[in-house]
Amino acid sequence: MTLIPFNKPYLTGKETQYIADAVALGKISGDGSFTKKCHAFFEEKYGFKKALLTTSCTDALEMAAILAVIEPGDEVIMPSYTFVSSSNAFVLRGAVIRFVDSMPNHPNMDVTKIEALINNKTKAILPVHYAGHACDMDIIMALANKYNLIVIEDAAQAIDSYYKGKPLGSIGHMAAFSFHETKNIISGEGGMLTINDAKFIDRAEIIREKGTNRSQFFRGEVDKYSWVDIGSSFLPSEIIAAFLYAQIENLQDIQEKRLTLWNAYYNGLKEWADTNGYILPNTFEYATNNAHMFYIDCGSLEKRMQLIEHLKAKNILAVFHYLSLHSSPFYAAKHDGRELINADNYTNNLVRLPLYYELGLNEIDYIVNQITSINHTLSSH
Ligand SMILES: *Cc1c(COP(=O)(O)O)cnc(C)c1O
Repeated sequence: MTLIPFNKPYLTGKETQYIADAVALGKISGDGSFTKKCHAFFEEKYGFKKALLTTSCTDALEMAAILAVIEPGDEVIMPSYTFVSSSNAFVLRGAVIRFVDSMPNHPNMDVTKIEALINNKTKAILPVHYAGHACDMDIIMALANKYNLIVIEDAAQAIDSYYKGKPLGSIGHMAAFSFHETKNIISGEGGMLTINDAKFIDRAEIIREKGTNRSQFFRGEVDKYSWVDIGSSFLPSEIIAAFLYAQIENLQDIQEKRLTLWNAYYNGLKEWADTNGYILPNTFEYATNNAHMFYIDCGSLEKRMQLIEHLKAKNILAVFHYLSLHSSPFYAAKHDGRELINADNYTNNLVRLPLYYELGLNEIDYIVNQITSINHTLSSH
């Protein structure tokens, strides 16, 4: 078997044609026709009050932190088991991060542990929908209402996924999505901020345009544009938006294919996992599965290393991720010292299997066969 990579960016076919179209239109900076088409698609399909493309999910999170008026010493509550940008965006504004443990049976944050961390410095809660599986948003929104907090969904992995029928990214006050090449739909690097509380919309447009009211100027709402607030250059060029639009047009097909592959892994591995102490992804009734990721909880660091090595020897690249942020070199000394046992367990035990559009069911069969033969192989050493 030739090498099976962990990820392979999928081109649906029209990406380069749309980029050529954008070039031919003579406007390749931001907020041209392809950006508008992307915004309209997301707003109509998912009911976001406002969608704004950004150059990354990281940038969308940084915008959200500015919009939430995070000031030095303010506290933000989020899971420890997540990507660094979730917290870095807020630390850039001087925030103190209060990390929440994962659930014992899912990497998502344990919502029952949030309320004890809320105090008069708490400004925001950042639920991360791990693997595109929704956090229990009713509980989070109820806490936000009770204590007057802002909820920013890290929906980087959560495109086209739902919580009790509501699209993820449409529930919190704001949400951040990623179109990095490892996500379901991609633009190389790319992201989106969505806004569901209308009071943030005007300022979001200003922050995204270097602190100017240029968006209002182009709509003819003001007769000149000027520097009115802090901001940065958060908007992507039309070349990025053109690429993304080709992906959007194939969203349904991409999701169906990924789900087929995900189910093939699940069905192929279930019995082996149950009999050998490995745990497959747990799904909740309130959450849909957008097949962003297929992972296995190996139960121990040793078993995970064995599995990764075993697959590598068979030319299959499986990877682990997220060194829990509360014990990272940058944050360990700033963390409040609480033990986060489940986050540490996922840090040590979780492995992600290859999952991308062009992966064949025959390749999944091959991978499943290699995995289910691991115990036999190890014992024969
Ligand atoms: C991918 C990812 C990000 C960052 O996305 P970029 O577009 O690369 O900035 C943030 N949070 C989570 C949970 C992610 O998976």
